[in-house]
Amino acid sequence: MDSYSGKITRLAEQFASLPGIGAKSAQRLAFHIVSMPEENVSALAEAILDARRNIRFCKYCCTLTDEEVCPICASDKRDHSTIMVVENARDLAAYEKTGRYEGVYHVLQGAISPAAGIGPNEIRLKELMRRLQSEDVKEVIIATNSSLEGETTAMYISKLIKPSGIPVTRIASGVPVGGDLENIDEVTLLRALDGRVPL
Ligand code: ZN
Repeated sequence: MDSYSGKITRLAEQFASLPGIGAKSAQRLAFHIVSMPEENVSALAEAILDARRNIRFCKYCCTLTDEEVCPICASDKRDHSTIMVVENARDLAAYEKTGRYEGVYHVLQGAISPAAGIGPNEIRLKELMRRLQSEDVKEVIIATNSSLEGETTAMYISKLIKPSGIPVTRIASGVPVGGDLENIDEVTLLRALDGRVPL
């Protein structure tokens, strides 16, 4: 890559550091950027910085949002007594796309993974426990992925909540083992939700 331009190489390396972008795509993007009108490149760069600087965690559910409280937590049309626990905002988006879930969410921003050194304190679990103490919650649905990390997290949370007496359920299998929720179709997601079992 060094044969044409150190600056293009540097740009391509930045793209290649993003998830899902290989060396070839990174190079293509870099060449595309330098051929774009400067104002479009400016708008792109500004959108990236603006998102990074101004998006924060919702005060209640910890999802990424522009506001202090996300639109779902702020809505009075949602059932605030049912909390679905998911690993990340992409999983939340997958369930929102089905249009059938009326409760609210709690986004852990990760899953417990002893192998990767991620313990209960590294995910947004304290925030969930705080919500359970201060809100009138009738059910916690654990919808972490069916990977080893997702299952470990589900078991951990269920044990933590048990003494409070709040019913905890786990979405049904049917979600393939190791499957990322965001890649699973809506029918499967709804079947998993409807078939949830007490933990
Ligand atoms: Zn929220």
